[in-house]
Amino acid sequence: MSGVEERIFQESVEKLISGFIPPWKVEEELTTSSELDPPKQFRLAALARQRFLEVITGEKFQSICVPEKPYKIHYVCDKENLGYELDAKDSHQNCLFCGGDLRSLDKYSPLVANYIGGSEAYYSYAGRIKVVGDVEKEFTNLLVYGTGLGPIGVTRGSFLINKFGGAKVKVSEFGPAVRSLAFLFQSEDFRKKAIQVIEDFWLSLRKEMEEKMAEFHGRAVSVEFCPTEWNGRFILYVEFVTDFGNFRGHGDTSRVVGFAKGKIEAFFKEHNVKFQMSMIAQGYDGDLKPSPRNKRGRYARAEVHIPVDEFDKAFEIDVEKFMTSVELDRIGAKKLGCQFYSGMGGEIIPAVYKATKVNPQSSLVSSFQNISAYVDKGDVIYSVELPNIEVGVASNREGLISPSGREALRIMNIHSAKDFAASLAAQVLAGEFNLALEISREKLYSKLDS
Ligand SMILES: [Zn+2]
Repeated sequence: MSGVEERIFQESVEKLISGFIPPWKVEEELTTSSELDPPKQFRLAALARQRFLEVITGEKFQSICVPEKPYKIHYVCDKENLGYELDAKDSHQNCLFCGGDLRSLDKYSPLVANYIGGSEAYYSYAGRIKVVGDVEKEFTNLLVYGTGLGPIGVTRGSFLINKFGGAKVKVSEFGPAVRSLAFLFQSEDFRKKAIQVIEDFWLSLRKEMEEKMAEFHGRAVSVEFCPTEWNGRFILYVEFVTDFGNFRGHGDTSRVVGFAKGKIEAFFKEHNVKFQMSMIAQGYDGDLKPSPRNKRGRYARAEVHIPVDEFDKAFEIDVEKFMTSVELDRIGAKKLGCQFYSGMGGEIIPAVYKATKVNPQSSLVSSFQNISAYVDKGDVIYSVELPNIEVGVASNREGLISPSGREALRIMNIHSAKDFAASLAAQVLAGEFNLALEISREKLYSKLDS
């Protein structure tokens, strides 16, 4: 960094700390008020936001790095009259379709909104949110979101929620995992006897299963039975529910249910319970299904309470209109036949998994979400509910977490799976609440240039 750049960088950090400029305005501020030639402002802005976060969190950035050219360049393929936006370090400047050379427009823009580092995964800073209730702390929001204004929406939502006392969160202590077996019988009698045999052995079987899950403190919670018929034959699904404090436990659960399968087959033989088939039932809860009876994952809920008297003035929207627009959204999702409402949560949840690199790293798992808005005791209560958060926050059998993922967890102030769930629910609340306000105020998609 040159002397001039060093001075500009220091000034930007100070402006961020004092709140003189919002984080997403640094690039703009640097191009309008400083002697920097574009695209130099992008790297300085990202470094300034990093330093600002180091000051407020007390953590250091080491793995989430800012590359030399952290911006994108706009190109066109003249043959097809088609636009491109590429990372400045992308050396393959050819059209995907015709293979021809792309022509640079010498136009630059940030990799993502509020970019703070990362080469393949582009990290955005998305404000800070205070939570109260089952978890009490302040989280720093980091998202690997991609282009779009999502991180700014989460930042703004967090700011509004903090003004009204923070997000009130409810988070369950343990995260359940499930694995099932399926047995096929020729008669109803054998199936009945099978249930009896398993119930008789459950206490001792459970003890053995727990010994095998002791390394990560897994508990065998229950065994449940689901009978059904097929072509005159009798199926019995046997579902084992486990739970874990800080681990997702899916792998451990599968291993102990594999062990239980062998034990149960031996019990059946010993008690003359004839079965035609015994298998791991992948289809019956083997992986998370979008089913309302799904038992996997931790429950989390976050809500914000705003006095009805203050709502109109604080958000410049009539309470009635706000509540009706939330309801129209909910009904729309139902009309499509969805079990859950999934709005911004469908983007924010994967963005948190990508930022922290925690297991399970999938956008299906844990992205189910419900929203609601109602009035209670003079308050408007806007809430989001996440029924199935799966999370392994420690690097072990549940999946290796890369140094940048672990760094993100530290910067976010996440030190347990419960923290993770609380942070996730609060960020989804912030994104949804801000979006619901924008929609009801008819501010969203209202300008062609926004
Ligand atoms: Zn082309």
